Amino acid sequence: MVRRFTWLLGGLALGFLSGCAVNPLTGQEELMFFSEDKDVELGDKYGPEIETALGGRFPDENLQKYVNRIGQRIARFCHRPDIAYHFTVVDQKMINAFAVPGGYVFITSGLLEKLESEAQLAAILGHEIGHIVARDTMAALSRQIGMTGLLAAAASMGGSGSGDLLAGTAFISGVLTLQYSREDEQAADGVGLTYMIQAGYDPQGAVDTMRVLEELQTIRPIEFFSTHPNPQNRVAYLAERIERRYSALDTLKMGKEEYEENVLAVLAEHAARNRPPGQRAPEDQKEEPAPPSATGS
Ligand SMILES: [Zn+2]
Repeated sequence: MVRRFTWLLGGLALGFLSGCAVNPLTGQEELMFFSEDKDVELGDKYGPEIETALGGRFPDENLQKYVNRIGQRIARFCHRPDIAYHFTVVDQKMINAFAVPGGYVFITSGLLEKLESEAQLAAILGHEIGHIVARDTMAALSRQIGMTGLLAAAASMGGSGSGDLLAGTAFISGVLTLQYSREDEQAADGVGLTYMIQAGYDPQGAVDTMRVLEELQTIRPIEFFSTHPNPQNRVAYLAERIERRYSALDTLKMGKEEYEENVLAVLAEHAARNRPPGQRAPEDQKEEPAPPSATGS
């Protein structure tokens, strides 16, 4: 059994070796062991399982359509527009977004709740598309679970034996906990900005998004920065880039009202419906200093 598995890995390794590939974001040649088709196969195979691991699809199809529409609008302008992209909101309190090889992007309802405009959402989706285009996820995964683990995950496609399940589990937990490098982050920020502008969104949304996330991070460590480490001076370099390259663009869409209507209202309504009887809305629970007369002393 072990020997068969090793043989299988060896055979697959040879089959998948695609040598150098040019990273479309940097123009640099990088060693890539998987063909781009294999990324897509991996995404198709594990995307649904990752969705389940993240809490499942958020149960509102209008919200899903809205987020997917914005994602598709941006993906049209990316460096790898030939693959199918899928944008899914997962029912999950943690604040994060995930890029899965082969065109799958997941964003948590917890993150959507913290954003304020369509342009901010576009910034997140553009950034995740940037990771997919650069194939950062594959590189980070090979650092994290090892090339053997990646090959095993690819080899298990279609199988249901215990070795296959183990490989699949390693791949899924790898995607959920992987950490990009700060260089990957900066590159994804840069192209994400370009894509969102081409799709018609105000690039200020990207700066606003990072400000919102950095503010949240001061309250408690948020999950987004555990998988997407914060490069130094992120807000500053984004703002500087916009000023230098895009200052003439002042008619692009921010989409605050659309976001309020299509996302925030839907999430608030969903939360109200699912709140146990007697529990107040979070905004009513904020601790306000009680007036002296109310203390009763
Ligand atoms: Zn990132």
